[in-house]
Amino acid sequence: MTPPPNSISSRNVAVIGAGAAGLVAARELRREGHTVTAFERQKQVGGLWVYTPNVEPDSLNIDPDRTIVHSSIYQSLRTNLPRECMGYSDFPFVTQPDDETRDPRRYPDQREVMRYLQDFAKEFDINEMIRFETEVLRVEPAAENSREWRVQFRSSNGVSGEDIFDAVVVCNGHFTEPRLAHIPGILSWPGKQIHSHNYRVPDPFKDQVVIVIGNQSSGSDISRDIATLAKEVHIAAKSDAYEKESSIYSNLHIHPTIDRVYADGSVVFQDGKVVFADAIVHCTGYKYCFPFLETNGYVTVEDNRVGPLYKHVFPPALAPGLSFIGLPSMALQFFMFEIQSKWVASVLSGRVKLPSEDKMMEDIIAFYAKLKSLGIPKRFTHFLTNPQWTPMFEKLKPHEAVLISQTEYFNWIAEQCGSPSIERWREEQYNIAIKKDDETFRDEWDDDDLIEEAYRDFAKIKPTKVCCST
Ligand code: FAD
Repeated sequence: MTPPPNSISSRNVAVIGAGAAGLVAARELRREGHTVTAFERQKQVGGLWVYTPNVEPDSLNIDPDRTIVHSSIYQSLRTNLPRECMGYSDFPFVTQPDDETRDPRRYPDQREVMRYLQDFAKEFDINEMIRFETEVLRVEPAAENSREWRVQFRSSNGVSGEDIFDAVVVCNGHFTEPRLAHIPGILSWPGKQIHSHNYRVPDPFKDQVVIVIGNQSSGSDISRDIATLAKEVHIAAKSDAYEKESSIYSNLHIHPTIDRVYADGSVVFQDGKVVFADAIVHCTGYKYCFPFLETNGYVTVEDNRVGPLYKHVFPPALAPGLSFIGLPSMALQFFMFEIQSKWVASVLSGRVKLPSEDKMMEDIIAFYAKLKSLGIPKRFTHFLTNPQWTPMFEKLKPHEAVLISQTEYFNWIAEQCGSPSIERWREEQYNIAIKKDDETFRDEWDDDDLIEEAYRDFAKIKPTKVCCST
C-alpha cells in the first residue's frame, strides 16, 4: 500500500563509491528528495572503468597490507554486452557520431564506457554530491540501538573526519579482491603467477608458455589477448561448453581443470596432459569485501555469500538504514544498479514499505534453503542471470530457475517501486550476448531488429534531469 504523501520524508544519505552503481544510486536518491553525500576514494567517477596501467605490487594480491589498485580493466577490453542493453534505462549508451574521439562500435572499448559514465555524471550534476579522493574507513551504527550511521573517512591530503547519516548505501564494487583456486603443488611451482586483477597488456608474456585458469568473460578475453604474443596459451576450463579449439589462434589450446603442478614447472591437467609453462594467469573471480563495515557481526561474508540480505539489498535488522547496490553478478549490471537504487530511495523516503524484519528473514531463509536443495553452492548466492541460457544452470526446471532469474528479480523490484519492467529487447540482447564466446561475437550479429526496437524506445525518452540539489 502506498503511504499518504505527507508521510514521505527526506533522509541524509551516504553513498560509498562513485562507480556505475554509486552514480545512479546518488541520482535516484536525490530524485526521491534525499540529501546525498557520495564518498569516492579515486580522483574521478567511473570506478572499475578508470583504467590504469598500474598494478598491485603483490601479483597474487595475498598481502593484506598491499597498496590496493581498484581497477581490474585490461587495456584491450571491449564490453561483453552490446551498448544498447548495457546503459541505464533513461540515459542510453548510444554512439556519439559528432565526436571522433569516441568509439562507435556496438561493443565498445573500456574508454568509451568510462566516457559514458562521465557523461552521465555531468548530465545529472552528480559530481557536486561526491567527495573525491576520500576513502571511507569505517561505517558503524552511531550508537547502541541507534538507527543512525557514523561514517569515518580520510581524504588524500590526510584529513580525517566523520559524519552522521540516516542511511548508508554501499556501492564499493566487487571486482578488486581476487579469489584464487586451490592448486595442489602451487607453492613450489617456480613460474610467474598473476591474478587477472593485475593483467593489463600481453607484453610480459611474449614468447612464453602461459596457462590461463578460467574461461568466463575475463579468462577467454585475456587468453586471446596473450595469444597474440605468447608462444602457447593453455586454458584450464571447468565448463564443457568451451570444448572447441580456437579457430583464429593456432597457439591457443583448451584443457580441463588442473590436477596438480610440480616444482619442475610442469602443469598436469585432469586428462593427464602435461605442459611445461612459464606463467599462470588466474582468472578465477573475485571476493565480496567490505573492510570498512562494522555491524557487530550481523552482516557477514561466508564463501562469497553476503548475508543475511533481503533480495540481495537490505539486511533485515538494519534496514532500511543500510543497503547494498550491485551485489548480484552476471546480471545486466547498470540496469540492475538503477532499479535497486530506485527501490532503496523509495523505501528510505517511506513511499514504499518493506515487509517486517521477521518476514524478510523468512524469505532469506527460504531462499538459502532452496539454493541448497538445488545443489547451488553458497558462493553462487548472488548469481543472477537468465538460467536457460547459462550452461551451468540450464538443467534447472523452470520453477527452479525463477530463483536465479534476473528477469524475475528485476520485475519484482520494478513492481515494488512502481517502475517499468525490463524491456523485451534489452532482455533478448542480453540472452544473445551471454551465449556467445567465440572470437567474432563483438563484431558480427544478427539481431538488428532488437537494435531498432531499442532505438525506438530511446527516441521516446524525455529529458528527466532533476536539479534539486538539497
Ligand atoms: P566499481 O566500478 O568497482 O566502483 C566502486 C567504487 O567504489 C570505486 O570507484 C571505488 O574507488 C569506490 N570505493 C571502494 N571502496 C571505497 C571506500 N572505502 N571509500 C571510498 N570509495 C570506495 N559490466 C557490464 O555491464 N559490461 C561489461 O562489459 C563488463 N565488463 C567487465 C569486465 C571486467 C574485467 C570486470 C571485472 C567487470 C565487468 N563488468 C561489466 C561488471 C562491472 O563490474 C560493472 O559494469 C560495474 O562497472 C561495477 O560498478 P560498481 O559501481 O558496482 O563498482
